[in-house]
Amino acid sequence: MTEKPETKQASSRQNIRKWILILSFILIPVTIFYISPIIVMMGAGEGVATGSLLLYIALFLLSLVVARLWCGWLCPMGAWQEICSPVIKHTVKEGWRNWIKYGITAIWLGMLALAFFQAGGIRSVDPIYGTVNGISISSVQVLMMVGIIFLFIIIIAFITGKRGTCHVFCPIAGIMVAGRKIRNLIHWPALGLSADASRCIDCQKCSKACPMGLDVNGMVRKDEMENADCILCASCADACPKGVISYGWKTNEQRRDS
Ligand code: SF4
Ligand code: SF4
Repeated sequence: MTEKPETKQASSRQNIRKWILILSFILIPVTIFYISPIIVMMGAGEGVATGSLLLYIALFLLSLVVARLWCGWLCPMGAWQEICSPVIKHTVKEGWRNWIKYGITAIWLGMLALAFFQAGGIRSVDPIYGTVNGISISSVQVLMMVGIIFLFIIIIAFITGKRGTCHVFCPIAGIMVAGRKIRNLIHWPALGLSADASRCIDCQKCSKACPMGLDVNGMVRKDEMENADCILCASCADACPKGVISYGWKTNEQRRDS
């Protein structure tokens, strides 16, 4: 049977996403210090704005229009959890676990501000802080430390469910959720999902495809496609056999639920 053009387009989008995530994971030895919340804190203690702090500021600004696209398409920690996802069958339950993430984000931001305050403010900017000639993992000790952190990430996911660290623990996610909430208050055009529930046959393929384990079928039925834990990966839109879910740039008029 000939594959429908839209199905080919959908699967190629997910193939591109998959390969970008694999590349992001492979590049960890170079990039991890530009992403690490720990390096940000170390730099703050010396009054240095590190590459990771600059990235977080950029991610907050980007989240005002593309929400958590970073998590779905680029983050190596997210990539690591998706690589391991075939052996993590359960999903993170909605509810109080989200508040752990927001609590961690608030505490981490407070500690960051305090560290800069005690260091006398931002005294210098060093995008390659902590690296050796721009390379993050430059010794066996650093490799072991990063390995332990990635082990911790996957243990959290095993305990809590699919992409559990993104749901429960990641302070960067909290920053981007805040950016999306601001966008949803002010209502400017942004990347997002919309759905036509009248075409839905409740096959659950969208929910099964969601790497965050969200009840996408339920979101469609409730006409609430906005979700703080949606990482805008488009897997649900690409999995739906009826083309119920649209993924793209929406004005607020086009997406009533924002
Ligand atoms: S709801 Fe859709 S776009 Fe959002 S995380 Fe789940 S599969 Fe990805
Ligand atoms: S995959 Fe499409 S048709 Fe199936 S439950 Fe989800 S939205 Fe409905």
